[in-house]
Amino acid sequence: MEPTKLFEIFEEVAHAEQRPGEMVSRYATVKIRDLVDGAIFDAAENKGLYALDGHIIVQPKYQRFYIYGDGKRDVKVIDSIIKGLPIGMISLYLPGDLARDGKPMAEVLDGQQRLTTIIRFCTEKFSVDIDGNPFNFYALPEEIQVKILDTEIPVSICAGGEKMRNDWFKTINMQGVALTDMEILNCVYSGEQVEALKEKFSHVTPYLSNVALQYIKGDPMRQEIEEIAIKMVCPDVEAYLAKHRHDADVSAVEKKFHAVIDWVDSIFPDYYKEMKGLEWGRLYDEYHEKFFNSEELGKIVADLMADEHVTAKKGAFEYALQKASGADPDLSLLHIRLFEDSTKRTVFSRQTRDAKEKGESNCPMCVLANGANRAKLYGIKEMDADHASAWSRGGATTIENCVMLCINHNRMKGNR
Ligand SMILES: [Zn+2]
Repeated sequence: MEPTKLFEIFEEVAHAEQRPGEMVSRYATVKIRDLVDGAIFDAAENKGLYALDGHIIVQPKYQRFYIYGDGKRDVKVIDSIIKGLPIGMISLYLPGDLARDGKPMAEVLDGQQRLTTIIRFCTEKFSVDIDGNPFNFYALPEEIQVKILDTEIPVSICAGGEKMRNDWFKTINMQGVALTDMEILNCVYSGEQVEALKEKFSHVTPYLSNVALQYIKGDPMRQEIEEIAIKMVCPDVEAYLAKHRHDADVSAVEKKFHAVIDWVDSIFPDYYKEMKGLEWGRLYDEYHEKFFNSEELGKIVADLMADEHVTAKKGAFEYALQKASGADPDLSLLHIRLFEDSTKRTVFSRQTRDAKEKGESNCPMCVLANGANRAKLYGIKEMDADHASAWSRGGATTIENCVMLCINHNRMKGNR
């Protein structure tokens, strides 16, 4: 389709009469040659700016950053074009109040990754392999260049107000590389707050890469750090954004984020990779007002990390905070290794044989209790293994330290 035709459709959609709650949409195709005409990719901003001679805003503010430039997904897009495979539809939205040279401008709602990839390739930003040799766009045989430029891409064009745009954005982005929750919220609540948060948390700064990313897990470019930072001040991210949408001040989030990270970084003397991705915001809220002897805390963690009975190493840090602050630590955080079935069966047989000879229960605690179950013989399914000498007092998970107790007594004893 000729660009003039496409602009006619833009005009038609932009000026169509709209019934409330209804979206006006039309379908068309556009050639790659028209899309890349006057197109710009900004390497510094890592985004495609304009296509179709300045009439399509490739990455409007509410869109995520360009993530296809990894030498795999971008190459795949170009490969399929060269092979003549169909390109998925690109969805355009007409805000209605944007124009250039008297023609309406559209924003890309869906397809910005593909479109940016095409722009980057046609402006020589990366190469693809053909028969093992890398080719930039202008190094390709001319017929392949023409084939690419003549490829028609289906587009849908719609208008209908901001709410409609947001609903549509959510729906169409369900397929493909799923948007993160935060990327969707950034669209729905686009405004001063989101812009300022992106500025602080969506670039890899030295503080993020050298300090913060040791303790938190997420991709800054996909707004995952931003989400974690908001959660530190307000667990309901959507409510937070709704309330602060037009507030450009993000110092509360920034301050809390730094406080949490700096606290973790200072109280634990040694770094372990298991520290990455823990709920540091919550732990900070619970423990930052308590005094910790860093050396003592480090010793507790080091012992747990070296203890083969501790199978959940990630739990060691919260456990250590509990213990060092004088609280009764929660053993379930550590997933202490359990006895093997073979060990349980061996100990069960021995205890049951001895019990039968003596005419008493095979649960030693029932014998001690001297009650109604004093001589009760339990089946193996009615018993469970316990550490005779508790793990927390140095007892090992070995057959010598295994004792079978009836379920009731096992529960009463816990894992102390
Ligand atoms: Zn018992």
